[in-house]
Amino acid sequence: MFISKSLGTNKDGNLTIGGADTTVLAKTFGTPLYVFDENLIIENMRSYKESIDTYYDGRGIVFYASKAFSCKEMARIANREGLGLDVMSGGELFTAQTADFPLDRVCYHGNNKDFEEIQQAIESGVGRIVADSGEELQLIDSIAKTLNKKQKVLLRVTPGVEAHTHEFIQTGQIDSKFGVTLETGAAFDVIDKARKLENIEFAGLHSHIGSQIFDEEPFICAARLLVGFMAKVKKELGINLYELNLGGGFGIKYTKEDKPKPYRTYMQDLIAGLCRACDDFKVEKPFLMVEPGRSIVGAAGITLYTVGGVKNIPGIRKYVSVNGGMSDNPRYILYEAEYEALLAEKPYEEGTETVTIVGKHCESGDVLIKDIKMPEIERGDILAVLATGAYNYSMASNYNRVPRAAAVMVRDGVPRVIIKRESYEDIVRNDI
Ligand SMILES: *Cc1c(COP(=O)(O)O)cnc(C)c1O
Repeated sequence: MFISKSLGTNKDGNLTIGGADTTVLAKTFGTPLYVFDENLIIENMRSYKESIDTYYDGRGIVFYASKAFSCKEMARIANREGLGLDVMSGGELFTAQTADFPLDRVCYHGNNKDFEEIQQAIESGVGRIVADSGEELQLIDSIAKTLNKKQKVLLRVTPGVEAHTHEFIQTGQIDSKFGVTLETGAAFDVIDKARKLENIEFAGLHSHIGSQIFDEEPFICAARLLVGFMAKVKKELGINLYELNLGGGFGIKYTKEDKPKPYRTYMQDLIAGLCRACDDFKVEKPFLMVEPGRSIVGAAGITLYTVGGVKNIPGIRKYVSVNGGMSDNPRYILYEAEYEALLAEKPYEEGTETVTIVGKHCESGDVLIKDIKMPEIERGDILAVLATGAYNYSMASNYNRVPRAAAVMVRDGVPRVIIKRESYEDIVRNDI
């Protein structure tokens, strides 16, 4: 059994993704190569969207958090599926604009949007801006005023729930670069003062408590704190907050140890928790937003590499070098993220030796997978690193002036290039 349902094998015994033979993909498009299974992306988008339809009467919207993998084709797919798009920068917004994404379904985030970015967002007509502070709220208001517009905004708050992969704590976490604290009364004061701002429509709250979280409890806990706060704002300020964005962060299966729930179950539980809180605090059920990123694309993507040098240091370690590394996947060097890998031509073969898969960059930390059991590997083999669909291409760099890899989308076994491979000319394009 493979960790993602996108993967399989064909009659030649080769590894497939979305029904396409990975050895053929590598030969046709070169390596390193990001490959995505469109059917799984769509299935994931639908599980979120249909959950809101089924369990919340459709009173909400799913924003795909585009930072996980931002490109025009992802914006088009999200558009076709009726999702919104979550953007964090002028560049991500520009990507949405150039893909003709309906901007009223765009939600603009970020803890430090600059003047031009806010202007770009309001001018282009994004549906919502999530303000990070009271000061930014005023800036949004004044820019909206000069543009003669009224901008809908949410306020990002830190509800005091901090979630990690396998546990969560209610910290009253005040030490965060994101948002305004609930507990200290800071968020309350911001909302109080926002009443004077004439060019914003203050719709509600936003929170995002972490990433790669497997448990729905921290989300429910956060939702409850937010609904309680909405009740307080209603009672003491007479302000009705009617929108609630609970962020993204749901986990995916990177390795066999990870056991995410089906997204529908997670959404059903989350919505039930939200409704319970609304009943308890006698708050009208808000328009609901969620922003999954990783759980839409992460497991639907793999990266194909060609194996180069294999170096055995007897008694110490065996290094297997591939023709990419931290420039296309910086997640090990950033977080010691764990991955699984398979050989394209013998995906079912049992691992016989422990190796460390490393990249080609000038950093000892340029590791893709430390200590993984693999069958015999030699130069020229095609290696697939799994579940690399999120935060790989979007975090890629040109370190060592390595051109960024191409990305291919596979639909029902048929591949198409969605991002071209960079050339050396691209690398020097901006050099004077
Ligand atoms: C990163 C982020 C997301 C998406 O998180 P995932 O873990 O990829 O689901 C959603 N909302 C905000 C505000 C984020 O910063």
